[in-house]
Amino acid sequence: MRGLLVFATLLAVAFSTENFVGHQVLRILAADEAQLEMVKELEELELDFWRAPVHPEFPIDVHVPFGSLQGVKAFLEHNDIDYSIMIEDLQSLVDEEQLHMSLRHFMPLSIDTFNYASYHNLDEIYGFMDVLVAEKPNLVSKIQIGRSYEGRPINVLKFSTGGVNRPAIWIDTGIHSREWVTQASGIVFAKKILDGYGKDASLTSILDKFDIFLEIVTNPDGFAFTHSSNRMWRKTRSLNSGSSCVGVDPNRNWDAGFGVAGSSGNPCSETYRGPRPNSEPEVKAIVDFVKSHGNIKTFISIHSYSQLLLYPYGYTTKKAADQPELDALAKKAVDALASLHGTKYRYGSIITTIYQASGGTIDWTYEQGIKYSYTFELRDTGRYGFMLPASQILPTAEETWLALKVIMEHTRDHPY
Ligand SMILES: [Zn+2]
Repeated sequence: MRGLLVFATLLAVAFSTENFVGHQVLRILAADEAQLEMVKELEELELDFWRAPVHPEFPIDVHVPFGSLQGVKAFLEHNDIDYSIMIEDLQSLVDEEQLHMSLRHFMPLSIDTFNYASYHNLDEIYGFMDVLVAEKPNLVSKIQIGRSYEGRPINVLKFSTGGVNRPAIWIDTGIHSREWVTQASGIVFAKKILDGYGKDASLTSILDKFDIFLEIVTNPDGFAFTHSSNRMWRKTRSLNSGSSCVGVDPNRNWDAGFGVAGSSGNPCSETYRGPRPNSEPEVKAIVDFVKSHGNIKTFISIHSYSQLLLYPYGYTTKKAADQPELDALAKKAVDALASLHGTKYRYGSIITTIYQASGGTIDWTYEQGIKYSYTFELRDTGRYGFMLPASQILPTAEETWLALKVIMEHTRDHPY
């Protein structure tokens, strides 16, 4: 009887987590527009595109469940479309990541002993925020800007050396929950800011004039779900009326070109825009915060993967009024980033560099008058994709920090 109970419990645990045994990620190279259109037909199957089909010259990465593999490969081969296997068995990467996480140390928590080179769950990250505030109350505080759909607090760290409603720099990570290297990098940025004040002359001069707001877990429900149930979860966790598919793409839900091409009206799509702009409390919380603050000068929203630094617009081909300045600054930032480990980034406007995407974060912030609005897509370019090994967290965060500093310094030196 007891044995049976243990077995039943193990079974329950096993079945609560989405399994990716035998799933592959294929990298597809469409030779021309005709092949691209054929690959787009695969979108009908509601496959999980890690990189969407957009231009013939850009690789398309798609996660294919075991049961669909034979059919998808046959379709590609029949149509003479070139592809390779990017990830042979997705579950083995998930298992490795789990093993690495299970081995992370639990030293008494402090800023100095926190394990920055590991992935962490929501409780650990929220605990880390409280440690920062406890150890450095004169530099950092925690603000709750709202609650998620499932009722979790939405927390933002405020780094400030005083003043009233100073001009501010906003950085968010993890709005797409499965992009784990972004939340992990956000943690490192917090340490960089705290360690740097009073030591790093450039950062000190920035913090003497500006407040920095850092939202590390921008989609807490989705992030919790990537740990409890489905590592590949991207969207929010809101229920959609009239559909059994859950969640909205929080980077299609902003009130900038909402609903035009570059998002989906299908709740089952990974780019579902939601029923209306700001329908997601996770988005609405930031919108309300930005509006009530009224003095944010730089807004940086961080994603992975593809190694890109992007500026508006995503929903329209019209050029941003500040395009020359945004472009020159992007070049400077990616040069600084590459100086550490040689990691190469492309940069440009969203629509010309990747694809048309509507209802995106930085199109909205730019239209709110926040001139320095940028999106990063961190490492890599498609060896591991969202499953970037923990060994790359620190190099990724450290190189990205150099680019962030360039953008912050430029903000400091070009008041508007
Ligand atoms: Zn993303």
